[in-house]
Amino acid sequence: MGKLKRVCAWCGADMGEREGEGEEGSICPECEAKVRAGTWEAHTYVSKLARILREILAAGSARNWEKLIELAKELEELARAERDGRFFENKGQ
Ligand SMILES: [Zn+2]
Repeated sequence: MGKLKRVCAWCGADMGEREGEGEEGSICPECEAKVRAGTWEAHTYVSKLARILREILAAGSARNWEKLIELAKELEELARAERDGRFFENKGQ
């Protein structure tokens, strides 16, 4: 019997393994608490920011200027949305 990897579908946290095959999407206790408390949006913002910054570093190292400019625009949009409080309103659009 192989190992089935359990991963939080929300934040990607490793939730250990159990008997089985492949990967299983689930929700970790931390994310479940955030969803219940309605603070998931803040977490989403941090996740987006972290992803953009990671990609900026990668694109910057590769001197991929078009990608870098694209990411800079994404970062600007995220910052504007947060500043103006549009993050919540735009959800699902
Ligand atoms: Zn999680």
